[in-house]
Amino acid sequence: MFKLTQYFSTKATPQSQPIPGSKQIPNSAGGYTWSVDDWVQLDRFLILGSEGGTYYISEQKLSIDNAEALVRCLAADGPRVIARIVEISEAGRAPKNDPAIFALALAAKLGDDATRKAAYAALPKVCRIGTHLMHFAEYAQAFGGWGRGMRKAVAGWFNARPADELALQLVKYQARDGWSTRDLLRLAHPRAASPSHDRLFAWVTKGTLPEGAATDPALSLLCAKDALARLSKPREAANVIRTHRVPREAVPTELLTHAEVWEALLADMPVTAMIRNLATMTRVGLLTPGANATKTVVARLGDNTRLAKARIHPVAVLAALLTYKSGRGARGSSTWSPIAQLVDALDGAFYATFKSVEPSGKRMLLALDVSGSMGWGTVAGVPGLTPRVGSAAMSLVTAATEREHTIVGFSTDLVRLTISPRQRLDDVVAAIDRIPMGGTDCAQPMIWAQQQKVDVDTFVVYTDNETWAGSVHPAQALRAYRQARGIPAKLVVVGMTSNGFTIADPNDAGMLDVVGFDTATPPVISDFARA
Ligand code: CA
Repeated sequence: MFKLTQYFSTKATPQSQPIPGSKQIPNSAGGYTWSVDDWVQLDRFLILGSEGGTYYISEQKLSIDNAEALVRCLAADGPRVIARIVEISEAGRAPKNDPAIFALALAAKLGDDATRKAAYAALPKVCRIGTHLMHFAEYAQAFGGWGRGMRKAVAGWFNARPADELALQLVKYQARDGWSTRDLLRLAHPRAASPSHDRLFAWVTKGTLPEGAATDPALSLLCAKDALARLSKPREAANVIRTHRVPREAVPTELLTHAEVWEALLADMPVTAMIRNLATMTRVGLLTPGANATKTVVARLGDNTRLAKARIHPVAVLAALLTYKSGRGARGSSTWSPIAQLVDALDGAFYATFKSVEPSGKRMLLALDVSGSMGWGTVAGVPGLTPRVGSAAMSLVTAATEREHTIVGFSTDLVRLTISPRQRLDDVVAAIDRIPMGGTDCAQPMIWAQQQKVDVDTFVVYTDNETWAGSVHPAQALRAYRQARGIPAKLVVVGMTSNGFTIADPNDAGMLDVVGFDTATPPVISDFARA
């Protein structure tokens, strides 16, 4: 008999060809996968962005592909897009807020009436600080000018917050990326909501303290900033900082070399700023092993409520950990001696910044794509944080809660990995970096489990979905596994880049697409495994 089915079968098809009868499309690596639907693509974009592109796709093309999916979603259901943007941005689920701001600006300019209205109403929820608002203005500029809706929304942003809160925003974020609050006020031209607002606007536009500033409590921070500019003694500066809860942005650079000044700043420092300034505070001698300030920082990093309130994202923690541990700044000019207690505290904070997970109790195979393409580029533009390293860190969050897990790495072959949540993340990163890279066969985890007779309820594959090297498709390998082991095994695909591909068969309810580095992903994995 001539074995025609070796060339044409729905059960075993080489990845270089589409499964007969399926809607598979070519991915960027020469293999066939499915495309995710536009709403999944929107999630990937909002969470992972397109900065830096991928191994296969240029930043430009990836950005255009994602924006086009966004435009299609807007045409289908604009208000649903706005709701999604707000949901992801407000919950701090994404490492960066820029994709959400971009999507909001595009919707505000190109959406239908209902969408535009919803977009402007969502402005203060998505643009929570001055920098966000300036980024919104920059993005919106690409899609149109300053119409009435835009002026009203930006004016509202300034007027809606209490004057003392607005003062803090104005002091912290005077100018960013070619925009200043002065530009925004000039274009939006708001009528001040109160005499204090009026004085604040005057300070922004004229650059000097307005009449009545000294007696207006809402302007006390501005007065303190003014006073600091004339002080050179660290002790005096520290007193002003403490009394008026002055943020770092309002302190002259010359004063930022003193431990005393940083100690005063630390008293009221937001967690985001604290994480970013660990190296500086170590270098100036405030943070030393066993010091009170070190204890304060460790306690705050261990305070889950505080971390959640500040919307600290695990990628920010991981980036801080990798930089701080290295003892050297990105440009290599500054160095410090990292304090082990702080590195450990950052390690703990990484796990705490994900949404809490109710373990499913299922048998899980956590499979990391360690192929060449995963070692290229960055997650959310963080230096050194490749999708490969990122997926290892992600997998540990699930490993920390699911007792019955095995972690493997695959390219064209499969290796068992000995990484564990009990190791510190920087050690895990180093271990992952040592694994040799190869081609990509995303069917390997299922093939391996079948051959080795390993019982798995849920396969979790962390990948960029650029699979090409295998002789069967991952979805086919999963169905073969189910049949061979008699287990209705599921597959969760954790997309680590914002391309539009997936190895999950959209017509199989036992396969699910989720987004890497979405803080909500670990609980979704467990819920899907449990169902
Ligand atoms: Ca690859």
